[in-house]
Amino acid sequence: MQVVGPIFEIRALRQKLSGSVGFVPTMGYLHEGHLALVKQARVENSAVIVSIYVNPAQFGSGEDFGSYPRELNRDLELLREEGVDIVFVPSDDDMYPAEFSSWVDVEKVTERLEGASRPGHFRGVATVVAKLFNIVQPSRAYFGQKDAQQVVVIKRMVADLNMGVEIVVVPTVRESDGLAMSSRNIYLSSRERQAATILFKALTLARQLRQGGEKYAEKIRRQMTSLIQKEPLARIDYVSIADAETLEELNLIDRPTLVSLAVRIGKTRLIDNVPLE
Ligand code: AMP
Repeated sequence: MQVVGPIFEIRALRQKLSGSVGFVPTMGYLHEGHLALVKQARVENSAVIVSIYVNPAQFGSGEDFGSYPRELNRDLELLREEGVDIVFVPSDDDMYPAEFSSWVDVEKVTERLEGASRPGHFRGVATVVAKLFNIVQPSRAYFGQKDAQQVVVIKRMVADLNMGVEIVVVPTVRESDGLAMSSRNIYLSSRERQAATILFKALTLARQLRQGGEKYAEKIRRQMTSLIQKEPLARIDYVSIADAETLEELNLIDRPTLVSLAVRIGKTRLIDNVPLE
């Protein structure tokens, strides 16, 4: 496994690869969720490239860029075990030199949900992913369903800007009690970790109500909201039942639907979602 920092070096390595290249962009502090993407990329491609980069451009001013967990040596060990070929670990100076002034702004699908709660977040995500695609030139890129709106945004960008990359979406990996794996779970105290199960409980309730025949989104939203409000440590940011493609809120569930939510547990903001048919 080769570990490279400078952009010119990974370009040179990429040129030597023949066959398909699977690419997994991450911010590191890897867990089984990330590794599910890597495993699938390993099965489906001749070579696998993983990037580890905590992208400053996608964090807001009051957010956790400075304290975001970083543990590069452990990450590299895990990636070596998965048979990854190249790990790209760029520096801020290389990615965003002082004169940097070009941004990718995906409109409409970024207006709601995470985009509404975290202004500028998806501009940072789309820009760094476009840069990484230009540098790595992957055949396929792997993203987690965990960040459902990110998937919608990246697919829109790839289609709109004619990027020749196939986007592969991998199901959310969960802890045994249903909590979606996330690097940010490390922030939770043991009491908060227990309270955090309320997200998946609310999503499970939505799925059960839908399976029971409920087709009015507002009824499901209300029941999810009142369930979450019973958890004293939880504060709802949003509970959404939306068209899975446009992310517009639905009245009637009559198409592929995304149930998603953002909830603060103490100071930690967690997101999760389930798709509904
Ligand atoms: P991050 O390091 O948080 O930027 O995540 C890198 C990639 O891993 C993104 O495509 C995420 O959606 C994906 N990912 C993170 N957590 C999970 C999870 N629990 N299950 C599946 N994919 C995940």
